[in-house]
This record gives sequence, structure tokens and C-alpha cells, in this order.
Amino acid sequence: MSRPARFDRGHTDDLLTYLAASPSPYHAVANAAERLEKAGFRKVEETDAWDGTTGGKYVLRGGALIAWFVPEGAEPHTPFRIVGAHTDSPNLRVKPLPDTGAAGWRQVAVELYGGTLLNTWLDRDLGLAGRITLRDGRDVLVNIDRPLLRVPQLAIHLDRGANDGLKLDRQKHMQPIWGLGDDVQEGDLIAFVAEEAGVDARDVAGWDLMPHPVEAPAYLGRDRELVAGPRMDNLLSVHAGAAALAAAAATGELPHIPVLAAFDHEENGSQSDTGADGPLLGSVLERSVHARGGSPEDRARALAGTICLSSDTGHAVHPNYPERHDPTHHPRANGGPILKVNVNMRYATDGSGRAVFAEACEKAGVPFQNFVSNNAMPCGTTIGPITAARHGIKTVDIGVAILSMHSARELCGADDPFLLANALTAFLEN
Ligand code: ZN
Repeated sequence: MSRPARFDRGHTDDLLTYLAASPSPYHAVANAAERLEKAGFRKVEETDAWDGTTGGKYVLRGGALIAWFVPEGAEPHTPFRIVGAHTDSPNLRVKPLPDTGAAGWRQVAVELYGGTLLNTWLDRDLGLAGRITLRDGRDVLVNIDRPLLRVPQLAIHLDRGANDGLKLDRQKHMQPIWGLGDDVQEGDLIAFVAEEAGVDARDVAGWDLMPHPVEAPAYLGRDRELVAGPRMDNLLSVHAGAAALAAAAATGELPHIPVLAAFDHEENGSQSDTGADGPLLGSVLERSVHARGGSPEDRARALAGTICLSSDTGHAVHPNYPERHDPTHHPRANGGPILKVNVNMRYATDGSGRAVFAEACEKAGVPFQNFVSNNAMPCGTTIGPITAARHGIKTVDIGVAILSMHSARELCGADDPFLLANALTAFLEN
């Protein structure tokens, strides 16, 4: 029996708002938390003692968020239903001593984060966002959302081979300019950022800052059937997961405990205190069991019945490079979410996982598509196999097919985000 669809284009409209307001993982989790707060979820501190009350709760740690809803009648061994995703996207990150320059240009020294498509950052107007940590330990989010920086491409007259294969040196060629001046002074950039954030520069003890393209996400195409925007890998899934969790919680009585696990640092291997290969999710699940009076046996029973849908973007077939894709598995934009398979466990999906996802999609009245890599191409991976291996949780890798993955501005179908949200809701409610 399929239920009436919960989400439509209004969900995609809200995705555009969410993408624009989330230029860093810290903003992504703050904005997801804000949506969950509106649905009645309340923040719990990891340093407090937890109680076994029912209702929606969430933990924030850096760029990660774990949210869950304890329904009436939940027992200590009640299994979890988890939607997993990641909050980080490949980009440029400000170095510890950022103030530099040459030839009369003021520049910002940056490191490269994740598998960035470097050319897509050239000649874009960039803002600067992230968090600054004050001497008293408080974190302050900052978002300078106006054209501030730019990585200027070399003119074709000075690089005649540019169109035959652009070569970018990761150290020399990716340093943005942000103004003019020969008198480069250490502390200049951070003083500027502190002023924009409304704090005293002398109070700034640390920072995690990153440029972002300021061009707004937008509908695109003849019938506005596409969406172009930054960081859809993988804020599209975080946004859909938060909407699905709020919708599932609103139904009240659930046979499982629905969870959203949004991790940082997927793009560089997930090994951090806020990454999927860290203890955060396991700690939250375990403490939730214990808070309801559960024993280690209850925890083992709960995890044995738990299923995770790991949602992330995948590749739609590129019309100019169809040979790079598998010849018979052809995910299309607006064809519904994709089920991602790789028998070498770059994706955690197996046949029984397929059955779980197929059932959720059927209940939601949503079509789904199959994704598998061309054997001659390396296959990406995601938090799915890590979650499965680290916690022993049955995991299924799914997502949305997009073009231009890891570009500063990606492209996907305008219907797929809400089709995904409907499938995730049906999975969390089951
Ligand atoms: Zn991703």
C-alpha cells in the first residue's frame, strides 16, 4: 500500500534555501537542527546525563549531527532505522597563516579539501564562511556571503594549451586574491573576519574557514526541471533526511527509533571525531539504549535489528561521455532515487538491502533506479561500508543521480530531492 506523497516541489524550493544558507558543514548542521527544532526536537549535550524520555532529540558536534526520535512505548532493545549522510563537500580551506600575496595582490593561502574539481573554482566570485573559536571556547558561525575572493584563471594568451588539457598546480595556482596591497600583514584576514562576525579579533583563538561560490542555487532548464547549486553532494541527502525524520516523528507511533546521522569528513575518508569512522553514532545509539534502562544485551539486540540507509549522490549518465558509464545501468535525472551496488563493498548494498529499499520506495509510491559502475572505471565510496563495518549494522547505499559531482556547482533533477525524501520517510516509518 503506498501512502500519499509527503513532499513535492516545495521540498526542492526549501533545498535551494538550505544550500544557500549552508556554505560550511557547521552551517549545514545548524540549519538542519533549526528545521528539527521546528518539528519539536530538542538538543541534548553529550556532557550531560541522558534520560529515557520520549520525543525528538539531537546531538551537535562540530560539523556532525545525530538526531533521533524515541516513540511512546519504545523498549530498550527497540531497533533503530538510520538515514546516514555527510555534511562536507570538496572545497578550499584557509591555511593557519593565511595572509599572503604577490605583485600587488592580496591573497589568501588555502589548502585543498577532498577531491575538488579544481577548474570549477576558477573565476567564480567567492564568499568566506565557517566558524571561529573564541578564547573562552565558544564557537561563532560566520558567513560573509558576498563576492570577496576569486581564483583568477590565467588568460589564454599566456596559456595557449589551456583548452587541450588544463594543468593546475595544487599549490601555486589555487590561491585566491581578495584585494590589493603590497603591505601583507599577518592577522589581516582573521581581523577582517572577526569584524564581519562582530567579535573582537583579540578574542579569536582558532578558525575553520572556507570559501564558497556566492551564486545562488537555481532551477535550470526548459521547464525548470533541473537544479544547479553548490554542495548538493551531499547536503541534498542531509536536507531530505532531516525532512524525513521530522515527518516520521510526526506520525508518533513507530516500531523503530528513526535516526538521522549526518557526518563530517566523508570526502577525506571519515576518520575524525565527527566522521562516520569515529565513535559518535555508536556512542549516541548506546547511550540511548542505556538511557531507557537497557543492558549491553539490549544494545546488541537493538543493533542486530537496525538498518541504515546511507544516502549520497551518484552519477547520472553524462550525455557527452556515455561510454564512462555501465552500458545497461543508466540512472536518469528525475527518475527517482538510485540504489548503489558494488560487489567489492565500495557500497554496502546486497540483495537483502535491495529488498529493504524496494519496499520503502513501493510504500512511498516512488520509482527507483539501479546504479553500478562500469568495470573499467574506479568506483567511489561513501559512509555506507564504514557504518556497516564499524557498528555491524545492516546498511544499504542509495542516493540521487547528479552530474558534475565535486564541482563547485553541481546539477540534478528538481524532482529527485523530494522523491528521495518520500522514500526515506517511508523507510523511517515502516
Ligand atoms: Zn558524497
